[in-house]
Amino acid sequence: MIYAAATHPVRVGNLVIGGSHPVVIQSMTNTDTLDTAATVAQCQRLFDAGCQMVRITAPGLKEARNLEDIKNQLHQKGYTGPLVADIHFLPEAALMAASIVEKIRINPGNYCDRNRGKTEFSPAEQAAERERIAERLSPLVEVCRQHGTAIRVGVNQGSLSERLVSLYGNTPRAMVESALEFIGIFEKLRFDQLVISMKSSRVQLMNQATRMLWDRMRQNGKIYPLHIGVTEAGDGEDARVISAIGIGSLLTDGIGHTIRVSLTEAPENEVPVAQSIVQAAEYLQSMPETERDGLVIRYAAQGKMLAEAKDGTVQEETNREANIVKNKEFARILTAVRWGRLMLRGQKEGFRLEGDLFSEEEKKRLIDDIFHAAGLRSHKTRFIACPSCGRTKYDIQSVLAQVKARFPNYPNLTLAVMGCIVNGPGEMADADYGYIGCGNGQVNLYRKGKLVKSHIPEDKALDELEALLSLGEGL
Ligand code: SF4
Repeated sequence: MIYAAATHPVRVGNLVIGGSHPVVIQSMTNTDTLDTAATVAQCQRLFDAGCQMVRITAPGLKEARNLEDIKNQLHQKGYTGPLVADIHFLPEAALMAASIVEKIRINPGNYCDRNRGKTEFSPAEQAAERERIAERLSPLVEVCRQHGTAIRVGVNQGSLSERLVSLYGNTPRAMVESALEFIGIFEKLRFDQLVISMKSSRVQLMNQATRMLWDRMRQNGKIYPLHIGVTEAGDGEDARVISAIGIGSLLTDGIGHTIRVSLTEAPENEVPVAQSIVQAAEYLQSMPETERDGLVIRYAAQGKMLAEAKDGTVQEETNREANIVKNKEFARILTAVRWGRLMLRGQKEGFRLEGDLFSEEEKKRLIDDIFHAAGLRSHKTRFIACPSCGRTKYDIQSVLAQVKARFPNYPNLTLAVMGCIVNGPGEMADADYGYIGCGNGQVNLYRKGKLVKSHIPEDKALDELEALLSLGEGL
Protein backbone atom coordinates (compact mmCIF):
# COMPACT_ATOMS: atom_id res chain seq x y z
CA MET A 1 0.00 0.00 0.00
CA ILE A 2 1.19 3.51 -0.77
CA TYR A 3 2.52 5.46 2.19
CA ALA A 4 1.01 8.92 2.67
CA ALA A 5 2.22 10.88 5.69
CA ALA A 6 -0.38 10.98 8.48
CA THR A 7 -2.51 14.11 8.81
CA HIS A 8 -5.55 15.35 10.60
CA PRO A 9 -8.36 13.03 9.33
CA VAL A 10 -11.31 14.45 7.40
CA ARG A 11 -14.49 12.44 7.02
CA VAL A 12 -16.21 12.68 3.64
CA GLY A 13 -19.32 10.50 3.69
CA ASN A 14 -18.22 6.88 3.89
CA LEU A 15 -14.53 7.73 3.29
CA VAL A 16 -11.83 9.34 5.38
CA ILE A 17 -9.27 11.55 3.64
CA GLY A 18 -5.94 11.81 5.42
CA GLY A 19 -5.34 10.31 8.85
CA SER A 20 -3.44 7.19 7.87
CA HIS A 21 -5.94 6.20 5.20
CA PRO A 22 -5.06 5.19 1.63
CA VAL A 23 -4.98 7.80 -1.12
CA VAL A 24 -8.50 8.46 -2.47
CA ILE A 25 -9.00 8.72 -6.24
CA GLN A 26 -11.55 11.23 -7.45
CA SER A 27 -12.83 12.72 -10.68
CA MET A 28 -15.41 15.21 -11.92
CA THR A 29 -18.41 15.04 -14.21
CA ASN A 30 -18.63 17.24 -17.30
CA THR A 31 -22.37 16.91 -17.90
CA ASP A 32 -24.94 19.64 -17.37
CA THR A 33 -25.81 19.30 -13.66
CA LEU A 34 -29.45 20.02 -14.51
CA ASP A 35 -29.47 16.95 -16.76
CA THR A 36 -30.03 14.48 -13.94
CA ALA A 37 -30.07 11.33 -16.06
CA ALA A 38 -26.80 12.16 -17.86
CA THR A 39 -25.05 13.18 -14.63
CA VAL A 40 -26.21 10.08 -12.75
CA ALA A 41 -25.09 7.86 -15.64
CA GLN A 42 -21.67 9.51 -15.75
CA CYS A 43 -21.26 9.17 -11.96
CA GLN A 44 -22.11 5.47 -12.28
CA ARG A 45 -19.49 5.02 -15.01
CA LEU A 46 -16.92 6.78 -12.82
CA PHE A 47 -17.69 4.69 -9.73
CA ASP A 48 -17.66 1.53 -11.85
CA ALA A 49 -14.21 2.49 -13.17
CA GLY A 50 -12.85 2.68 -9.61
CA CYS A 51 -13.36 6.36 -8.84
CA GLN A 52 -14.09 6.73 -5.11
CA MET A 53 -15.49 10.26 -4.98
CA VAL A 54 -17.16 12.34 -7.71
CA ARG A 55 -17.28 16.13 -8.00
CA ILE A 56 -20.16 17.85 -9.76
CA THR A 57 -20.29 21.50 -10.76
CA ALA A 58 -22.86 23.68 -8.98
CA PRO A 59 -22.50 27.17 -10.45
CA GLY A 60 -25.98 28.31 -9.43
CA LEU A 61 -28.82 27.59 -7.04
CA LYS A 62 -30.75 25.44 -9.51
CA GLU A 63 -27.75 23.16 -10.04
CA ALA A 64 -27.04 23.03 -6.30
CA ARG A 65 -30.65 22.04 -5.62
CA ASN A 66 -30.54 19.35 -8.29
CA LEU A 67 -27.68 17.61 -6.47
CA GLU A 68 -30.35 16.15 -4.22
CA ASP A 69 -32.07 14.34 -7.10
CA ILE A 70 -28.72 13.14 -8.42
CA LYS A 71 -27.65 11.84 -5.03
CA ASN A 72 -31.02 10.13 -4.38
CA GLN A 73 -30.98 8.37 -7.74
CA LEU A 74 -27.41 7.19 -7.21
CA HIS A 75 -28.29 5.83 -3.76
CA GLN A 76 -31.32 4.03 -5.21
CA LYS A 77 -28.98 2.33 -7.67
CA GLY A 78 -26.61 1.34 -4.85
CA TYR A 79 -23.89 3.97 -5.51
CA THR A 80 -23.13 5.52 -2.13
CA GLY A 81 -19.68 6.99 -2.80
CA PRO A 82 -19.37 10.61 -1.65
CA LEU A 83 -20.31 13.50 -3.92
CA VAL A 84 -18.54 16.85 -3.95
CA ALA A 85 -20.06 20.11 -5.16
CA ASP A 86 -17.81 22.46 -7.10
CA ILE A 87 -18.83 25.99 -6.15
CA HIS A 88 -17.98 28.91 -8.38
CA PHE A 89 -18.95 32.41 -7.22
CA LEU A 90 -22.32 32.08 -5.52
CA PRO A 91 -22.26 31.72 -1.70
CA GLU A 92 -25.97 30.75 -1.74
CA ALA A 93 -25.14 27.79 -4.00
CA ALA A 94 -22.47 26.73 -1.49
CA LEU A 95 -25.00 26.85 1.37
CA MET A 96 -27.53 24.81 -0.58
CA ALA A 97 -24.98 22.23 -1.78
CA ALA A 98 -23.41 21.86 1.67
CA SER A 99 -26.73 20.61 3.03
CA ILE A 100 -26.90 17.88 0.35
CA VAL A 101 -23.49 16.48 -0.61
CA GLU A 102 -20.61 15.23 1.54
CA LYS A 103 -18.04 17.84 0.58
CA ILE A 104 -17.90 21.17 -1.19
CA ARG A 105 -15.02 22.82 -2.97
CA ILE A 106 -14.64 26.57 -2.62
CA ASN A 107 -12.10 28.94 -4.15
CA PRO A 108 -10.67 31.38 -1.56
CA GLY A 109 -10.38 34.02 -4.30
CA ASN A 110 -14.19 34.14 -4.46
CA TYR A 111 -14.58 35.00 -0.76
CA CYS A 112 -12.06 37.84 -0.83
CA ASP A 113 -12.82 41.48 -1.66
CA ARG A 114 -12.75 42.40 -5.29
CA ASN A 115 -10.51 45.42 -5.30
CA ARG A 116 -10.20 45.93 -9.04
CA GLY A 117 -6.77 47.48 -9.41
CA LYS A 118 -5.83 48.29 -5.80
CA THR A 119 -2.17 47.46 -5.22
CA GLU A 120 -1.39 48.63 -1.69
CA PHE A 121 -2.97 47.42 1.54
CA SER A 122 -2.19 48.66 5.03
CA PRO A 123 -2.07 46.10 7.89
CA ALA A 124 -5.41 47.48 9.12
CA GLU A 125 -6.98 47.02 5.68
CA GLN A 126 -5.66 43.47 5.53
CA ALA A 127 -7.07 42.61 8.96
CA ALA A 128 -10.41 44.17 8.03
CA GLU A 129 -10.61 42.05 4.89
CA ARG A 130 -9.89 38.90 6.90
CA GLU A 131 -12.81 39.85 9.17
CA ARG A 132 -15.08 40.22 6.16
CA ILE A 133 -13.97 36.83 4.82
CA ALA A 134 -14.82 35.26 8.20
CA GLU A 135 -18.28 36.87 8.08
CA ARG A 136 -18.85 35.49 4.57
CA LEU A 137 -17.70 32.00 5.58
CA SER A 138 -19.54 31.82 8.89
CA PRO A 139 -22.98 30.75 7.53
CA LEU A 140 -21.30 28.08 5.40
CA VAL A 141 -19.45 26.70 8.41
CA GLU A 142 -22.74 26.43 10.31
CA VAL A 143 -24.38 24.42 7.52
CA CYS A 144 -21.32 22.17 7.14
CA ARG A 145 -21.17 21.55 10.88
CA GLN A 146 -24.87 20.71 10.98
CA HIS A 147 -24.64 18.25 8.07
CA GLY A 148 -21.13 16.83 8.62
CA THR A 149 -19.96 18.27 5.30
CA ALA A 150 -16.25 18.69 4.60
CA ILE A 151 -14.77 21.64 2.70
CA ARG A 152 -11.94 21.72 0.20
CA VAL A 153 -10.10 25.02 0.14
CA GLY A 154 -9.07 25.00 -3.52
CA VAL A 155 -6.36 27.61 -4.01
CA ASN A 156 -5.83 28.35 -7.69
CA GLN A 157 -2.86 30.31 -8.98
CA GLY A 158 -5.14 31.97 -11.54
CA SER A 159 -7.56 33.47 -9.02
CA LEU A 160 -5.60 34.70 -6.03
CA SER A 161 -6.86 37.81 -4.25
CA GLU A 162 -5.39 41.14 -5.33
CA ARG A 163 -4.32 41.72 -1.73
CA LEU A 164 -2.13 38.59 -1.61
CA VAL A 165 -0.74 39.17 -5.11
CA SER A 166 0.18 42.73 -4.11
CA LEU A 167 2.05 41.39 -1.08
CA TYR A 168 3.76 38.31 -2.55
CA GLY A 169 3.39 38.51 -6.33
CA ASN A 170 1.68 35.76 -8.31
CA THR A 171 3.94 33.18 -6.68
CA PRO A 172 3.86 29.86 -4.81
CA ARG A 173 4.30 31.93 -1.61
CA ALA A 174 1.05 33.83 -2.36
CA MET A 175 -0.77 30.50 -2.85
CA VAL A 176 0.57 29.21 0.47
CA GLU A 177 -0.42 32.40 2.31
CA SER A 178 -3.92 32.14 0.81
CA ALA A 179 -4.31 28.56 2.09
CA LEU A 180 -2.94 29.39 5.54
CA GLU A 181 -5.15 32.47 5.81
CA PHE A 182 -8.25 30.38 5.14
CA ILE A 183 -7.11 27.61 7.50
CA GLY A 184 -6.67 30.29 10.21
CA ILE A 185 -10.12 31.75 9.56
CA PHE A 186 -11.79 28.32 9.61
CA GLU A 187 -9.97 27.40 12.83
CA LYS A 188 -11.19 30.62 14.46
CA LEU A 189 -14.68 29.52 13.45
CA ARG A 190 -13.84 26.15 15.14
CA PHE A 191 -14.07 24.15 11.92
CA ASP A 192 -11.32 21.77 10.86
CA GLN A 193 -12.91 19.35 8.36
CA LEU A 194 -10.71 20.79 5.63
CA VAL A 195 -8.83 19.43 2.66
CA ILE A 196 -6.46 21.81 0.90
CA SER A 197 -5.33 21.98 -2.73
CA MET A 198 -2.77 24.14 -4.51
CA LYS A 199 -3.54 24.09 -8.23
CA SER A 200 -1.71 25.54 -11.18
CA SER A 201 -1.30 24.44 -14.77
CA ARG A 202 2.46 24.68 -14.25
CA VAL A 203 3.83 21.51 -12.70
CA GLN A 204 6.83 23.21 -11.05
CA LEU A 205 4.65 25.85 -9.48
CA MET A 206 2.02 23.51 -8.00
CA ASN A 207 4.79 21.24 -6.77
CA GLN A 208 6.69 24.05 -5.12
CA ALA A 209 3.55 25.56 -3.57
CA THR A 210 2.38 22.19 -2.24
CA ARG A 211 5.74 21.34 -0.65
CA MET A 212 5.96 24.83 0.85
CA LEU A 213 2.47 24.51 2.33
CA TRP A 214 3.32 21.06 3.66
CA ASP A 215 6.36 22.42 5.49
CA ARG A 216 4.44 25.38 6.89
CA MET A 217 1.60 23.16 8.18
CA ARG A 218 4.17 20.88 9.85
CA GLN A 219 5.76 23.89 11.53
CA ASN A 220 2.31 25.06 12.67
CA GLY A 221 1.64 21.66 14.26
CA LYS A 222 -1.54 20.69 12.39
CA ILE A 223 -1.36 19.07 8.97
CA TYR A 224 -4.50 19.03 6.83
CA PRO A 225 -4.82 16.41 4.08
CA LEU A 226 -3.91 17.55 0.59
CA HIS A 227 -5.78 17.14 -2.68
CA ILE A 228 -3.20 16.92 -5.48
CA GLY A 229 -3.72 17.66 -9.16
CA VAL A 230 -2.39 19.63 -12.10
CA THR A 231 -5.13 21.78 -13.51
CA GLU A 232 -5.79 22.19 -17.27
CA ALA A 233 -3.37 19.38 -18.20
CA GLY A 234 -5.06 18.88 -21.59
CA ASP A 235 -5.40 15.50 -23.28
CA GLY A 236 -3.49 12.52 -24.67
CA GLU A 237 0.06 11.45 -23.81
CA ASP A 238 1.15 14.98 -22.87
CA ALA A 239 -1.51 15.31 -20.19
CA ARG A 240 -0.67 11.89 -18.75
CA VAL A 241 3.02 12.79 -18.47
CA ILE A 242 2.23 16.20 -16.91
CA SER A 243 -0.12 14.61 -14.35
CA ALA A 244 2.29 11.78 -13.59
CA ILE A 245 5.08 14.24 -12.78
CA GLY A 246 2.95 16.69 -10.83
CA ILE A 247 0.99 14.17 -8.79
CA GLY A 248 3.39 11.22 -8.71
CA SER A 249 6.45 13.14 -7.54
CA LEU A 250 4.55 14.37 -4.46
CA LEU A 251 2.92 10.98 -3.76
CA THR A 252 6.32 9.27 -3.96
CA ASP A 253 7.45 11.56 -1.13
CA GLY A 254 4.37 10.73 0.97
CA ILE A 255 2.59 14.03 0.22
CA GLY A 256 -1.01 13.81 -1.03
CA HIS A 257 -4.16 12.14 0.32
CA THR A 258 -6.63 12.44 -2.53
CA ILE A 259 -5.81 12.94 -6.22
CA ARG A 260 -7.53 13.95 -9.41
CA VAL A 261 -6.03 13.58 -12.86
CA SER A 262 -7.58 16.33 -14.97
CA LEU A 263 -8.00 15.35 -18.65
CA THR A 264 -9.88 17.05 -21.48
CA GLU A 265 -11.36 13.66 -22.33
CA ALA A 266 -14.20 11.50 -21.03
CA PRO A 267 -13.86 11.69 -17.22
CA GLU A 268 -13.77 7.88 -17.00
CA ASN A 269 -10.36 8.03 -18.72
CA GLU A 270 -8.94 9.85 -15.69
CA VAL A 271 -9.42 6.90 -13.33
CA PRO A 272 -6.96 4.34 -14.77
CA VAL A 273 -4.34 7.08 -15.15
CA ALA A 274 -4.79 8.05 -11.49
CA GLN A 275 -4.58 4.37 -10.47
CA SER A 276 -1.35 3.96 -12.46
CA ILE A 277 0.19 7.05 -10.86
CA VAL A 278 -0.61 5.71 -7.38
CA GLN A 279 0.82 2.32 -8.35
CA ALA A 280 3.97 3.93 -9.78
CA ALA A 281 4.50 6.04 -6.64
CA GLU A 282 3.88 3.01 -4.45
CA TYR A 283 6.47 1.04 -6.41
CA LEU A 284 9.04 3.84 -6.23
CA GLN A 285 8.49 4.16 -2.48
CA SER A 286 9.41 0.49 -2.13
CA MET A 287 12.80 1.00 -3.84
CA PRO A 288 16.05 1.89 -2.10
CA GLU A 289 16.84 5.54 -2.75
CA THR A 290 20.01 4.81 -4.74
CA GLU A 291 18.03 2.74 -7.23
CA ARG A 292 14.98 5.02 -7.35
CA ASP A 293 17.17 7.97 -8.25
CA GLY A 294 19.03 6.16 -11.06
CA LEU A 295 19.25 8.05 -14.35
CA VAL A 296 19.16 5.05 -16.69
CA ILE A 297 16.14 2.75 -17.05
CA ARG A 298 16.00 -0.32 -19.28
CA TYR A 299 12.57 -1.65 -20.12
CA ALA A 300 12.39 -5.02 -21.85
CA ALA A 301 9.31 -5.88 -23.88
CA GLN A 302 8.57 -9.00 -21.82
CA GLY A 303 7.80 -6.83 -18.79
CA LYS A 304 11.22 -6.71 -17.17
CA MET A 305 12.62 -3.44 -16.01
CA LEU A 306 16.27 -2.89 -15.23
CA ALA A 307 17.55 0.22 -13.53
CA GLU A 308 21.05 1.48 -13.18
CA ALA A 309 21.70 2.82 -9.70
CA LYS A 310 23.74 5.92 -8.96
CA ASP A 311 26.83 3.74 -8.37
CA GLY A 312 26.46 2.15 -11.83
CA THR A 313 25.24 -1.28 -10.67
CA VAL A 314 22.37 -2.72 -12.67
CA GLN A 315 19.42 -4.15 -10.79
CA GLU A 316 16.78 -6.30 -12.42
CA GLU A 317 13.73 -4.82 -10.79
CA THR A 318 11.55 -7.80 -11.60
CA ASN A 319 13.47 -9.57 -8.81
CA ARG A 320 11.56 -7.48 -6.34
CA GLU A 321 8.18 -7.19 -7.97
CA ALA A 322 7.47 -9.30 -11.01
CA ASN A 323 6.23 -7.65 -14.19
CA ILE A 324 5.58 -4.22 -12.79
CA VAL A 325 5.80 -2.85 -16.32
CA LYS A 326 2.65 -4.32 -17.76
CA ASN A 327 2.42 -2.12 -20.81
CA LYS A 328 3.86 0.94 -22.49
CA GLU A 329 1.29 3.28 -20.96
CA PHE A 330 2.25 2.27 -17.45
CA ALA A 331 5.97 2.39 -18.32
CA ARG A 332 5.49 5.97 -19.56
CA ILE A 333 3.80 6.96 -16.31
CA LEU A 334 6.40 5.20 -14.16
CA THR A 335 9.24 6.87 -16.06
CA ALA A 336 7.57 10.29 -15.84
CA VAL A 337 7.05 9.97 -12.07
CA ARG A 338 10.56 8.67 -11.49
CA TRP A 339 12.49 11.17 -13.59
CA GLY A 340 10.07 14.09 -13.31
CA ARG A 341 10.55 14.01 -9.55
CA LEU A 342 14.32 14.26 -10.01
CA MET A 343 13.95 17.07 -12.58
CA LEU A 344 11.75 19.08 -10.23
CA ARG A 345 14.53 18.70 -7.66
CA GLY A 346 17.10 20.21 -10.04
CA GLN A 347 18.48 17.21 -11.98
CA LYS A 348 18.74 18.48 -15.56
CA GLU A 349 20.65 15.84 -17.54
CA GLY A 350 21.98 12.32 -17.63
CA PHE A 351 18.71 10.46 -18.32
CA ARG A 352 18.83 7.45 -20.63
CA LEU A 353 16.05 5.05 -21.61
CA GLU A 354 17.11 1.63 -22.91
CA GLY A 355 15.65 -1.76 -23.75
CA ASP A 356 13.24 -2.91 -26.43
CA LEU A 357 9.85 -2.04 -24.92
CA PHE A 358 9.92 1.36 -26.67
CA SER A 359 11.13 2.13 -30.18
CA GLU A 360 13.95 4.67 -30.47
CA GLU A 361 11.44 7.30 -31.62
CA GLU A 362 9.14 6.55 -28.65
CA LYS A 363 12.07 6.82 -26.22
CA LYS A 364 13.05 10.21 -27.59
CA ARG A 365 9.46 11.46 -27.49
CA LEU A 366 8.95 10.30 -23.91
CA ILE A 367 12.14 11.94 -22.66
CA ASP A 368 11.31 15.16 -24.56
CA ASP A 369 7.78 15.12 -23.09
CA ILE A 370 9.12 14.70 -19.55
CA PHE A 371 11.55 17.61 -19.98
CA HIS A 372 8.75 19.70 -21.53
CA ALA A 373 6.28 18.91 -18.72
CA ALA A 374 8.88 19.59 -16.03
CA GLY A 375 9.46 23.00 -17.64
CA LEU A 376 13.15 22.34 -18.38
CA ARG A 377 13.22 22.17 -22.17
CA SER A 378 10.65 23.21 -24.69
CA HIS A 379 10.48 21.60 -28.12
CA LYS A 380 6.83 22.29 -28.90
CA THR A 381 3.86 24.46 -27.98
CA ARG A 382 2.66 24.17 -24.41
CA PHE A 383 -1.10 23.58 -24.44
CA ILE A 384 -3.36 23.91 -21.45
CA ALA A 385 -7.03 22.98 -21.57
CA CYS A 386 -9.72 22.78 -18.93
CA PRO A 387 -11.23 19.34 -18.33
CA SER A 388 -14.67 20.85 -19.16
CA CYS A 389 -17.75 20.74 -16.95
CA GLY A 390 -21.45 21.59 -17.09
CA ARG A 391 -20.52 25.13 -18.19
CA THR A 392 -18.58 24.17 -21.32
CA LYS A 393 -19.83 26.05 -24.37
CA TYR A 394 -18.56 23.85 -27.21
CA ASP A 395 -17.12 20.44 -28.07
CA ILE A 396 -13.85 21.12 -26.30
CA GLN A 397 -12.27 17.75 -27.09
CA SER A 398 -12.51 18.26 -30.84
CA VAL A 399 -11.58 21.98 -30.58
CA LEU A 400 -8.47 21.10 -28.56
CA ALA A 401 -7.48 18.48 -31.17
CA GLN A 402 -7.84 21.09 -33.94
CA VAL A 403 -5.83 23.73 -32.07
CA LYS A 404 -3.06 21.22 -31.28
CA ALA A 405 -2.90 20.04 -34.89
CA ARG A 406 -2.77 23.61 -36.25
CA PHE A 407 -0.15 25.11 -33.89
CA PRO A 408 2.17 22.29 -32.78
CA ASN A 409 5.59 23.91 -33.00
CA TYR A 410 5.75 27.15 -31.08
CA PRO A 411 8.32 26.48 -28.32
CA ASN A 412 8.04 28.98 -25.46
CA LEU A 413 4.39 29.68 -26.28
CA THR A 414 1.45 28.64 -24.09
CA LEU A 415 -1.94 28.26 -25.79
CA ALA A 416 -5.06 27.74 -23.67
CA VAL A 417 -8.32 26.15 -24.78
CA MET A 418 -11.03 26.73 -22.21
CA GLY A 419 -14.70 25.83 -22.02
CA CYS A 420 -16.36 28.99 -20.72
CA ILE A 421 -15.81 32.73 -20.37
CA VAL A 422 -16.88 32.76 -16.70
CA ASN A 423 -13.89 30.90 -15.25
CA GLY A 424 -11.76 30.30 -18.34
CA PRO A 425 -9.93 33.68 -18.38
CA GLY A 426 -8.91 33.35 -14.71
CA GLU A 427 -7.97 29.70 -14.93
CA MET A 428 -5.68 30.24 -17.95
CA ALA A 429 -3.88 33.12 -16.22
CA ASP A 430 -0.38 32.32 -17.46
CA ALA A 431 -1.28 31.51 -21.08
CA ASP A 432 0.05 33.69 -23.90
CA TYR A 433 -3.11 33.20 -25.96
CA GLY A 434 -6.51 31.85 -24.98
CA TYR A 435 -9.25 30.33 -27.12
CA ILE A 436 -12.53 30.26 -25.19
CA GLY A 437 -16.00 29.12 -26.18
CA CYS A 438 -18.58 31.84 -25.47
CA GLY A 439 -21.72 30.02 -26.66
CA ASN A 440 -23.85 29.98 -29.82
CA GLY A 441 -20.99 28.53 -31.89
CA GLN A 442 -18.74 31.51 -31.15
CA VAL A 443 -15.28 31.97 -29.67
CA ASN A 444 -13.43 34.74 -27.80
CA LEU A 445 -9.66 35.14 -28.24
CA TYR A 446 -7.38 36.45 -25.48
CA ARG A 447 -3.79 37.63 -25.47
CA LYS A 448 -1.94 37.79 -22.14
CA GLY A 449 -5.27 37.59 -20.30
CA LYS A 450 -6.92 40.41 -22.24
CA LEU A 451 -9.86 39.94 -24.58
CA VAL A 452 -8.72 40.87 -28.11
CA LYS A 453 -11.44 39.39 -30.38
CA SER A 454 -14.94 38.46 -29.38
CA HIS A 455 -17.81 36.43 -30.82
CA ILE A 456 -15.88 35.00 -33.76
CA PRO A 457 -17.78 32.18 -35.52
CA GLU A 458 -16.09 28.87 -34.66
CA ASP A 459 -15.20 28.12 -38.30
CA LYS A 460 -13.18 31.37 -38.50
CA ALA A 461 -11.57 31.26 -35.04
CA LEU A 462 -8.44 29.22 -35.92
CA ASP A 463 -7.61 31.61 -38.78
CA GLU A 464 -8.06 34.59 -36.46
CA LEU A 465 -5.80 32.96 -33.87
CA GLU A 466 -3.18 32.28 -36.52
CA ALA A 467 -3.32 35.93 -37.58
CA LEU A 468 -2.76 37.01 -33.97
CA LEU A 469 0.14 34.57 -33.60
CA SER A 470 1.79 35.76 -36.81
CA LEU A 471 1.62 39.33 -35.53
CA GLY A 472 3.06 38.14 -32.21
CA GLU A 473 1.72 41.31 -30.63
CA GLY A 474 2.53 41.75 -27.01
CA LEU A 475 4.88 38.78 -26.78
S1 SF4 B 1 -13.12 26.87 -17.54
FE1 SF4 B 1 -13.77 24.80 -18.15
S2 SF4 B 1 -13.79 23.55 -16.27
FE2 SF4 B 1 -13.62 25.73 -15.64
S3 SF4 B 1 -15.78 26.32 -15.26
FE3 SF4 B 1 -15.36 26.88 -17.41
S4 SF4 B 1 -15.94 25.06 -18.63
FE4 SF4 B 1 -15.84 24.40 -16.48
